[in-house]
This record gives sequence, C-alpha cells and structure tokens, in this order.
Amino acid sequence: MSKRIALSDSNISVNLPSEINTANYNVIANFEDKLEKYLGEKKHVVALNSGTSAIHLALILSGVTEGDEVLCQSFTYIATANPILYQKAKPIFIDSELDTWNICPKHLEKAILDRIAKGKKPKAIIIVHLYGMPCKIDEIVAIAKKYQIILIEDAAEALGSMYKEQKCGTFGDFSIFSFNNNKIVSSFGGGVLVCNSIKEKEEAIFLATQAKDKSEYYSHSRLGFNYRMSIVSALIGTEELSCLNDYVSARIANHQNYESLLDGVKGVSLFKENDDFIKSNHWLSCILIDSKASKFTNKSLRDQFEKENIESRPLWKPLHLQPIFKNDAFYGGNVANNLFQKGLCLPSSAHLTKNDFNRISNSIQKFL
Ligand SMILES: *Cc1c(COP(=O)(O)O)cnc(C)c1O
Repeated sequence: MSKRIALSDSNISVNLPSEINTANYNVIANFEDKLEKYLGEKKHVVALNSGTSAIHLALILSGVTEGDEVLCQSFTYIATANPILYQKAKPIFIDSELDTWNICPKHLEKAILDRIAKGKKPKAIIIVHLYGMPCKIDEIVAIAKKYQIILIEDAAEALGSMYKEQKCGTFGDFSIFSFNNNKIVSSFGGGVLVCNSIKEKEEAIFLATQAKDKSEYYSHSRLGFNYRMSIVSALIGTEELSCLNDYVSARIANHQNYESLLDGVKGVSLFKENDDFIKSNHWLSCILIDSKASKFTNKSLRDQFEKENIESRPLWKPLHLQPIFKNDAFYGGNVANNLFQKGLCLPSSAHLTKNDFNRISNSIQKFL
C-alpha cells in the first residue's frame, strides 16, 4: 500500500533519536511497562505529564467531587493538596509524627472519627513519604481499611524507598510518582499514576486524553484533561529508570557522608530511619538544628552556605499554615511546624564530590 497521507504531521526539523516521532506511542507504553516490571505484576502504570496530574486523576478515580472531604498530610509540598481544590473538595490537614516526619496515625484516626461525628465521612486519605522516608504504612493502611477510606500514596519523592521489603508506591489504592527535574529520576517533567486494575488504568488514560468517547467524530460526555506524558519525556524516563539503583546509592552515600560530617556537631541531628524495616532513598538529606544547643540556626547556616555558593532549602512549610489553606481544618499539634522552624535541606545531588563535601564541612566549621 502507498504511504498514508497524514492529516497533519508535525513539522519537527531538529534531529531527534529515531524512536522520537510524534506518532510513536510505543515509547510511552515502554516506559509504563518498565515501571510495571519494577513495581510488580499486579500494578498498572499510567504515564502522565506530572505528579500533580497523577494526584488529580487519583482523586477523580476515587470519586472525589465537590464538597467531599480529603484527609491530607500537612507537612508536604503544595502539589500534594492542590488537586483537592481542583475537584472543589475540602482538604482536612493532619499533623506529622517525629519518627518519619509523615502523617501521624493517631491524629489521622482522631480526625476521621471527628469528621464522621460532624456528619461526613472523608472520601480519601493522601499520605506522603517525605524526602523519601516511608511513612507509618502498616498503621495507616489498617486505619484506611477499618474505616473503608480510599488511600492515595504520594510517593513523588520516594521512588526506590522500601518498607518491610515492599516498594513505596505499591501500598495505596492509588499511588503516584513524579519525574520532575529535581526528583530522584527525571524525565524532564512527568509523573505516573499507579493503579490496581487495568480498568482503572484505562479510565485514567481516557481522562488524561480529553475523554474522547468511542465515536466516529469528536464526542465528549465527561470532563477530560490533557495530562498524558510526552513521547520525549517517556523516552528520557525509560533510559533514566535504568539508573535508579545508582541514583539511590548516590543519595544514600550523601546521607552517610553527612552522618560523619555532622558527627560531634552539637545541636544538629540528621533525619534518618528510626526502624530497620524502613529504607529511605534519602532523596534529600535534611537536618534539624536545636538553636539552644547549636552555634547556628537554620537561617544563619543557610546564609553562610549562600555566601559560599552552596544551595540549601528550608523544609516544606506545613500546608495548614499556608495562606491559601487558612480556612481549612487541621488535626494535630505543633510537630510539622516545629520541624519547619528547625530544619534545613542540605545539598543532595547524586553527583556531589568529595570536594563539595569538604566545602560544606568547612562552611559549617566556621561556626564552631
Ligand atoms: C514533586 C512532588 C509532587 C508533584 O510532582 P510534579 O511532577 O512536580 O507535579 C507531589 N508531591 C510531592 C511530595 C512532591 O515532592
């Protein structure tokens, strides 16, 4: 047969690898396959343009709509909670506990009981493995089961982290990963939704591609989105996934370097695993500084680092303290806020050199 005359081929003139052409959707399927193989047989992965859109689709597939309540870890990046607002639902924020810095199971259960007493059972729970540290999964899964609430696992920062030999991102009714540039594996922007059935995967793809009905013409009966991953991102993501183990090892090595570098520095504690069945990917190495015992604060250390061209960042500011969420409910105390007040994220790239660590160490030594 003669070559098909296309309606509108793309006019890309730059030289690209041959796999990249605008119609090669196999590239996206390959990326999904690779992640499915990594996560295990029973998981069904949908490649999307961001982790945020993955959370949004998880909420839609969970049936969250206007006026519904969604329980959400407060101590996290804004992207965890924004999709709750996209659905015109109400976030109910929960404080952290000190072992993992993640959602506190006790406050979570209290919140559920209180919301039920107030007349409305929350539709979903969003948990996070912050900075790669697995949250108290057994306790939380038990609570979600007990009250029959859908569990959404935001594993954006936790690709490669393990809990009792099981991979983070495989515990939720839905889970998500991000492949944004700053995450442990990058696809130059991207995310995935992890589902437990093919049916959910198919629905997610349908919604992510403008909800086109099966029809001979363009027909739409549901609200859709333009959320599918690009072919370029999928190709890069597939290649980069092969490096996951190396990247995780590098981040763990950073953590170990900080452990020795900070040994004996008074008032400073490194964020680490509190149980041996937990393995963090140590996406970011973080510290807490007790200003009473230390010669510096997170602010003065950050200023000092900045002078020497070393980048550090504050911890996430808890969402219940963000102006945009000021009218939303919060259950807990001051744990997340205290972490925010005392903490700092240290340089954590996978390619830090011995010399970089010496510069960081010398910078800290100036206070001592
Ligand atoms: C990065 C991140 C997201 C969102 O991912 P994007 O791909 O940037 O949309 C969600 N949750 C957490 C905890 C993140 O760190």
